[in-house]
Amino acid sequence: MRMRKRNNLEPRMEACSAIWLRDAKQLRGKWRTLMPQARELRVEIGCGKGKFTVETAAAEPDVLLIAVERVQEAMLLGMERALEMGLKNVYFLSLDAAEIEEYFADGEVDLLYLNFCDPWPRKKNAKRRLTYRTFLRKYQRILKRDGEIHFKTDNAALFDWSLGEFEACGLEIRSLTRDLHKNGPVGIMTGYEERFYELGTPINRCELINREVTMQKIQMTTPLVEMDGDEMTRVLWKQIKDELLLPFIDLKTEYYDLGLPERDRTADQVTVEAAKAIQKYGVGVKCATITPNVQRMSEYNLHEMWKSPNGTIRAILDGTVFRTPILVEGIRPVVKNWKKPITIARHAYGDVYKATELRVPEGRAELVFTDRDGSETRKTIYDFECCGVLTGQYNKDSSIQSFARSCFNYALATKQDLWFSAKDTIAKIYDGTFKRVFADIFEAEYKERFEQAGITYFYTLIDDAVARVIRSEGGFIWACKNYDGDVMSDMVSTAFGSLAMMTSVLVSPDGKYEYEAAHGTVTKHYYRYLEGEKTSTNPMATIFAWTGALKKRGELDGLDDLVAFAEKLEKICVFVIERGTMTKDLAALWEGDKPNVVTSEGFIAAIRRELENR
Ligand code: NAP
Ligand code: MG
Repeated sequence: MRMRKRNNLEPRMEACSAIWLRDAKQLRGKWRTLMPQARELRVEIGCGKGKFTVETAAAEPDVLLIAVERVQEAMLLGMERALEMGLKNVYFLSLDAAEIEEYFADGEVDLLYLNFCDPWPRKKNAKRRLTYRTFLRKYQRILKRDGEIHFKTDNAALFDWSLGEFEACGLEIRSLTRDLHKNGPVGIMTGYEERFYELGTPINRCELINREVTMQKIQMTTPLVEMDGDEMTRVLWKQIKDELLLPFIDLKTEYYDLGLPERDRTADQVTVEAAKAIQKYGVGVKCATITPNVQRMSEYNLHEMWKSPNGTIRAILDGTVFRTPILVEGIRPVVKNWKKPITIARHAYGDVYKATELRVPEGRAELVFTDRDGSETRKTIYDFECCGVLTGQYNKDSSIQSFARSCFNYALATKQDLWFSAKDTIAKIYDGTFKRVFADIFEAEYKERFEQAGITYFYTLIDDAVARVIRSEGGFIWACKNYDGDVMSDMVSTAFGSLAMMTSVLVSPDGKYEYEAAHGTVTKHYYRYLEGEKTSTNPMATIFAWTGALKKRGELDGLDDLVAFAEKLEKICVFVIERGTMTKDLAALWEGDKPNVVTSEGFIAAIRRELENR
């Protein structure tokens, strides 16, 4: 439809915000919450100026109607009319029909209207017709079983062609007419239709029933907590969902937008809500997010320098972060005897990261502790005969216990040995407490389960651990105190190859899981993307965040096919790289024959092809 730009489009759209749904993706699977008493949920695709939907809504007040239109200028008129008429059962959203599955869940819709869609008469444009089979399959998925599609057009050629498409998709024709208004007007007419009627042009109409569900998608029972993010990784996030997940899984997620603009808009409440949702459902998947600094304050015009979302989520879940590299043949670790991944578990609380520091002149430094009753314990740290520096560090038994339990649980979940290292020969009380807490919890709660699983736990000094790790084959979890974990995870990831191949999962002591990539939002690539460049950003760690979360969800819910799909997707990703197709970052590390360096899109497309062929 061709429309003149309307005056004051924005303020007029804004005035319709009660029925204009801008965040409609969040309603996926939940549309009926808008009108719980609704008898049916119907969607008109390509509503144009909305006359049909608005009049249908007025005629059937017990039906919830959603009008979908790409062209906002057209839709605006429908919205203004619906408001004028005081309708409470009609909403509008602007989207492309191709995206419909992102907005409506499988089986959610009772009836779809397709009225006078663009016929795209030239053969080469057939795929754009809204009755083309790829569109029909999408409609079929969001329609309930035995749901209906009502199709009207003045274009006889389009109608005939569409009948073939309906047949190909197994849609059953219930009624069909080639001259709907032959004996006078029937039903509610669209604006176009009225004009055709006056001109005497016959209107073709058919009603179709969705008898067959064409492709069986993998079903989920509990939603994943989906946390969208920023910049380049946000772009990858959508590509991964569209190409690798939505076509194969009836993806159930509870969506939280942790992108910086939304965090700013909600005063970071959205992050807190996402963390609570992980506590509720047990499994989340997160896209990389910007941690604001001074430069981001002005770039995004922020109200406040919001804290790192990862820090906020970690504090709420009280979790430990486990980082594991993805290994592929052809990219050898620097340490040549490493054959299996080494997972670093970092205690992300306290110690030097929460230390209090002082620079001092000559004098006595003391450690003073005052208990609840007011009695003091004093120890001399040092009698300074010259200037010097001092630091006060702490940790808490409760946090160390959580850390220990998270590590033991993760070792059991991944069936890997657990190592823990500290320096208790020197810090006899401080590191000695860590060692004792781990040992006590292991004895009391985990020893038997470890034996049953055929895995071991052992403690060793950090110096000894470093030597053993280097000589090992890999394939275990190395639990580290906060500072050791910071340093060692960078060493291990570098030695394995690339940050873009490092996955990360936050595990809480009570067994909640949050998966993500270890890298950031890849800002430099994003700026190039904004200039129109197709970047070669590596999506592996983000894909593996999704597969990790899907696998865990599948395990918890007993969905073997979901687990199998996630494993298959991981294998295919590795296979595609090992066959020589990869993003630029990996090409630099590649030791095989000349690699086929592709864009992110190209890489994801190669994975999709394999997925479809297996
Ligand atoms: P980064 O996003 O990890 O990127 C640093 C560099 O590493 C990139 O410029 C790129 O190198 C390379 N790289 C990282 N991931 C890659 C991938 N998937 N494919 C190809 N190359 C990749 O770190 P940053 O630039 O320091 O941080 C950017 C933003 O991310 C910051 O706002 C920070 O707050 C945020 N961040 C978030 C998280 C998180 O949410 N977990 C973690 C860290 C950082 P080349 O440019 O040389 O290609
Ligand atoms: Mg570090």
